[in-house]
Amino acid sequence: MPAYLGRFAPSPSGPLHFGSLLAAVGSYLRARHLGGQWLVRMEDLDPPREVAGAADTILHQLEAYGLQWDGSVRYQSQQSDRYDEVLAQLLEQQLSYYCDCSRKRIKQAGGLYDGHCLPRQLEQGAIRMVNHPAIAHFDDQLLGPIHTSTEFAAEDFILKRRDGLYAYQLAVVVDDHDQGITEVVRGNDLLEPTVRQLSLYRTLGWQAPTWLHLPLAINPDGNKLSKQNHAPALHPTDISHTMAQALALLGQPLPTDLRLAPVAEQLDYAVAHFRLASIPTARQLAAPSR
Ligand code: GLU
Ligand code: ZN
Repeated sequence: MPAYLGRFAPSPSGPLHFGSLLAAVGSYLRARHLGGQWLVRMEDLDPPREVAGAADTILHQLEAYGLQWDGSVRYQSQQSDRYDEVLAQLLEQQLSYYCDCSRKRIKQAGGLYDGHCLPRQLEQGAIRMVNHPAIAHFDDQLLGPIHTSTEFAAEDFILKRRDGLYAYQLAVVVDDHDQGITEVVRGNDLLEPTVRQLSLYRTLGWQAPTWLHLPLAINPDGNKLSKQNHAPALHPTDISHTMAQALALLGQPLPTDLRLAPVAEQLDYAVAHFRLASIPTARQLAAPSR
């Protein structure tokens, strides 16, 4: 068994909010409790969605919240050569193909891609994965067996967009593999896409990590906390209180005398007492109002 290697992989589209803190803390506790390492990777693949300075803000927030990572931060924006190398290999082996379909065509065909361009042998366009045989099932370390719809699982999903941007599915698999990540711990908004990532691991002949999907924090209005929904940035000074709330929501409550203790002490306690089985298996949890 390789040593445990976990990671937190934020997209720098804004500062961390309470929802992203749950994913950061959950993955940190799991790695540290198992005596493993915890890496941070910036998923800065989508320049139009990026907010200037957000990557640095996120790193400062992690430090302020006591979440110290191992090694140096990896930036996906610097991995283009590697993504191109993997794409070239897949095209060469006819495990992927070019597609020039419009969004409108795909919508008219039912929303999921129908493989229209597979026999067309185009020489440019978006790049799609030959996703066959599809994987529609995996075991989650927290949630147990997960089955997705076969239609979703079987789609020839995009690896590189027509505008030249690398797709999340490609980059996340290449980086998790290249960095030697043994387990992916993240929010369960990414539960379903896991089957696509597994398909890519299999196609590339790479050993897949294990998966652990954490509950998502939602607003009183039922929407997930996200940058798109304008979730407030993590409180810059009320750190111990916020950390105590995050730990409680993850089923790892602190004893009363640590609820306002320095965050390093809180995390030491939470790492030592971490229990996977105590994390709620509900898909969504109400975020504290403050
Ligand atoms: N960058 C993704 C996000 O911020 C997370 C990717 C992952 O953990 O696999 O939603
Ligand atoms: Zn097409």
